[in-house]
This record gives sequence, structure tokens and C-alpha cells, in this order.
Amino acid sequence: MSRPLDRQSRAELAAAVPPADLTGFVDLARAVSLWREALGEDAVIVGDGRQKYQNDCISVHRRVPVVLRPDTTAAVQRVVEIARSCQVPIHPISTGNNWGYGGAAPSKDRCVVVDLSGMDRVISVDPQLGLATIEPGVTQGALRAYLDERGLQFMVPTTGAGPTCSLVGNALERGYGITPHSDHFSAVRSLRAVLPDGSLYESALTSFGAPLADKGHKWGVGPYVDGLFSQSGFGIVTEMTIALAPLPDSVQAFMVDIEDDDQLEAVVEEVRDLIQRSGGGLGGVNLMNRLRLLSMFAPYPRQNVEPGQAIDPLMAESLGRKSGLPTWLGLGALYGDDEVVAGMRHAVRRRLKKHSARIRFFSKRSVSQAKWMVRCLPGPFRSSLERRVLMASELLEILSGRPRETALKLAYWKASTPPPTDRPMDPARDGCGVIWFAPLVPMRAAEARTYVNIVNDICPDYGIDPLITLTTVSDQCFDSTVPILFEGPNQADRAHACYDALFDACQVHGFLPYRMNLRSMSRYTDQVDSPYWKTVHRLKSALDPNNLMSPGRYAPPY
Ligand SMILES: Cc1cc2nc3c(=O)[nH]c(=O)nc-3n(C[C@H](O)[C@H](O)[C@H](O)COP(=O)(O)OP(=O)(O)OC[C@H]3O[C@@H](n4cnc5c(N)ncnc54)[C@H](O)[C@@H]3O)c2cc1C
Repeated sequence: MSRPLDRQSRAELAAAVPPADLTGFVDLARAVSLWREALGEDAVIVGDGRQKYQNDCISVHRRVPVVLRPDTTAAVQRVVEIARSCQVPIHPISTGNNWGYGGAAPSKDRCVVVDLSGMDRVISVDPQLGLATIEPGVTQGALRAYLDERGLQFMVPTTGAGPTCSLVGNALERGYGITPHSDHFSAVRSLRAVLPDGSLYESALTSFGAPLADKGHKWGVGPYVDGLFSQSGFGIVTEMTIALAPLPDSVQAFMVDIEDDDQLEAVVEEVRDLIQRSGGGLGGVNLMNRLRLLSMFAPYPRQNVEPGQAIDPLMAESLGRKSGLPTWLGLGALYGDDEVVAGMRHAVRRRLKKHSARIRFFSKRSVSQAKWMVRCLPGPFRSSLERRVLMASELLEILSGRPRETALKLAYWKASTPPPTDRPMDPARDGCGVIWFAPLVPMRAAEARTYVNIVNDICPDYGIDPLITLTTVSDQCFDSTVPILFEGPNQADRAHACYDALFDACQVHGFLPYRMNLRSMSRYTDQVDSPYWKTVHRLKSALDPNNLMSPGRYAPPY
């Protein structure tokens, strides 16, 4: 029997959920009462404290009536059983920092958010096999601290989103970085999840008593089911094992300046060849255009830009030249024994020197030397060089599996407030406007050029600066990220219109996003008659007949 709600809880619930909204729920009030009994009062938030879960940088607002904070797998099972018996939709998050795609907000209004950030144990790291078994709340920063405390020489699969983001949440979104295990779901070896009926799922071989073999072999045996839990609403993952890349003897970053835009096609071909022949010694490679570099190295030139307009290309060129930034920059890292890295360095130089007047390699040692030299320079020369050396040093840290907030500053470029220095950055909390357009582009010269032209043509029509990065996510494909940066909620509609125009134009050429923000998700999921969504629908409705787990997330409507 559930305890009836006391007066204060009833008042809080009424304030959180207008009575008209409650009519949609079979029994939200009863669910809250049962959750309080199961999890304790503090783990059930119905009043203040729900703000973080309702908004994101994409300027979306979802009404979230309740937030739950279970701290064990058994508690998550109870959460799900109660949601099912009371017919309340729920949406799990790990740290909820899915900035630019929807943050902590659910795809649909009026879902209860299940916040797993309190499940933050590193369960184990096998020092020989480099297998880390973690809970959803384990962040990049927390895993780094765990490894450092124990002297374990492995890399954290870092991303631009930085130290406060969950490894499980990022892997489930199929996020990526540019350390050797760049595709983060590829590194997932096994997992445990709570299904929509409250029962437990475990990867195949674990269920047969071979957990270590299971963690060492991604595919287990039989149909590969673990993948169903990524980009979906098939269950709540409460434990995951990921393979960590060992930190090699040598990590060297390289930067290739490409001054002539006409060289882009040739560079794309060379990069593909290098990646295909590197045998894993080359991590991901980023090709970034000048505007993207400006967003990293120079403040937003607000005084020179008409409100609501994009930066004029000539001005971008002149600002870039002033800051010493090329038209395109290739950025990557080499990993391995000293001899392997020396060989790779030679290959990078040999292939790219025809297209670039400047190729720089840097290692921890050369960055330390540069830091020392900069300190000896007279004041006027020092500050810009100091900034670059600091940037190189932070970049090298990220590429070595040490998370940093460096790339997160991008979200603040057009924002009215600068990135905070006294607390961790959080672009959603700080009101930054960013929507990621992230299409896959085949790694061929002609496709890359077509794609770049589309982005350069369309973005300025919407007052958006075309900031382009092309990242190698496989031997055959780039994922491009275009952060659609906007200044505030009043520009959000134009920013979303820009996203739609990019989606439409790119679709014609077959360049489609690998990941969706929750306002645009239906661009895919409305295609209910495609063989793909029909199959997803059959699987989803078998496991979740009442569509209570993350409804609308990468799934067609019921
Ligand atoms: C400037 C900037 C740079 C960025 N750089 C990168 C980058 O380099 N690479 C990258 O991939 N992303 C990047 N991002 C996007 C994003 O911030 C990260 O991917 C971030 O890691 C996602 O948030 P999270 O880890 O807190 O996951 P969450 O927000 O917790 O999870 C994301 C989604 O996964 C699902 N989910 C989460 N946990 C569970 C669970 N336990 N069970 C079932 N489903 C679950 C939910 O649907 C949830 O909404 C960047 C964003 C910004 C603003």
C-alpha cells in the first residue's frame, strides 16, 4: 500500500504539474508516493530543482513534472516497475549534459526524468586488459582521477564536452572524440540494463558465467542486442564496460596549415589514405575552417557584425590573418612507440607538405620548452603566443586522454556571458545558444567540397556563421560538426530554420546526421513506413508496449 501524499507534497506536485496536465497521467500522484517510499524523499524532486532538466542550449522547453535520483540498479528496477504500474513515461539521463542536442530534457513533454548521476562508482578497471566497468554517473574527470590515483596508464575517451560529462551517456549517444578509441560505442564491450518491464538485461556471455570473456569480446554470442540500448529508449543502462586505450610511449599532435582553399580536395584524399594505411597509429583527424579556428583563438567580433548577421567572409579572412590562422587547419595525433611515431610523422609530412607551407608537430616535451621560452619574451609578444602555447598544451592533454574544458568555450563565443572561471562550464545553465548539425560525409574530395559549399551558402542566409569541422570517424567517412551558434532565445527560431535548411540541402546529396537534437528528431522518425522504422517499432513495442521509456527518442510514434 502506498502512503498518501502529505499536504506539502500535494501542493508541490500541483505547482509542478498543473491539474490539467495530471489528467493525461493514469496516476502520477500515486507514482510519486510510491517512489518516495522506494527511494526516500530526497531522491524524488517535484518542486524546485527541475530547471536543469527542462531546458537546453537548443532553446527547447520540456515540462518535467518529477525528477528521480535512484542510486542502485535495484532502485532503478523499482522506479521502472512503479512507472509501469502507474503508466507514467520516464526518461533516463546519465549526467544530462547533452548540450546542443537537448541537454537533460526528454524528447516529449511530461516525462519523469530518471537522473543517474548519483550512480557514480568506478566498479573496476582491469590493469592488464584495460577494461573499465563503470556506472552511468562516472564522468570523464572522475575516471581520470581514478586512473591517476592508481597509476594506471590508460587514456580516458575524451570529448570536447569535457570533464563533467558521463562516459556512459556519451557512448549511448554514440558520441566520438579523437583519441585512439574515437568511436565511443565501438569501445563498449558489455552492459547491464533495466528493461521497460523492470527486468534485467545482461550481455550474452555474462549470463552464461563468463563475464571477463564477455567484456573482452564485444559481440558475445547470438544476436547482438547491446546495440539496441544506444540512441534508443529500450532500457536504462546501469553498468557498462568500456575498453580503454593504453597510453603509449609517445603522443605527438600535429597541425597542418592549409592556406589555399583549393587544396581542400587534395588534403581530403591524403587524409583518407593516411588513415587507411596508418594501422591505428593515427587517431582521428580534424579539418577545421577559419571561422571555426577564430571561435577558438579570437573573441567574437561583435562590434564589427550587424546584429542578426553572419560575419562577412572578407572580415573573417582579415581577422584570421591578424591572428595567424589559415583557411583550413588539419589537426591530429600520432600514438605508439617512439619508432612508430617517428615513422608516422614522416608519412604525415611527406603526404601533406605539397598542400601546406607549415606542418608543426608537438609533444609534451616541446610544449614545456615552448612554455619556458614564452616566459622569457618581452610583454607585447608574450600574450598571444602564451595563449597559443596554452592551447597546444591543453589540446595535447585532451589527445592523451586527459579531459579539459578547452573546446567547451566554443558554446560561449556568441553568448552574452563569458565562460565562468570559478565553476565548471555548463552552456545550458549559462544560456548559450548552440544546435549541432552533425552529418556524415563520405571521405572523398567531391563530396567534401559539395558539402562545404552547401554550409557556406546556407548559414549566412540565417545570420549563422558557417563554422565547419570535418572529423574522420571511420576510414571511409567524416562526421562534420557545424555548431549553429545563436545569441539568445529570440534567435532560436532562425537557428532551427537554418538547421532545417541544412538538413534539406544535405539530404539531396546523401549527407545525413548521425545524431539528432530532440526538436528535429521527428525529421527521421516521421518516416514510419521505412523498413528501418517499421522494424524498430516492432522491437520497441514488444519490449515497451505502452511506450513509457523515452517516448519519441529515435523511435516512431505509437
Ligand atoms: C562545445 C561542445 C563540445 C562538444 N563536444 C563533443 C564531442 O567532442 N563529442 C561528443 O560526442 N559530443 C560532444 N558534445 C555534445 C555533448 O555535450 C556530449 O556528447 C555529452 O557527453 C553528452 O552528455 P552526457 O554525457 O551527460 O549524456 P546524457 O545527457 O546523460 O545522455 C545522453 C542521452 O543518452 C541517453 N542515456 C543517457 N544515459 C542513459 C542510460 N544510463 N540508459 C539509457 N539511456 C541513457 C538519454 O536519452 C540521454 O538523453 C559537445 C557539446 C558542446 C556544447
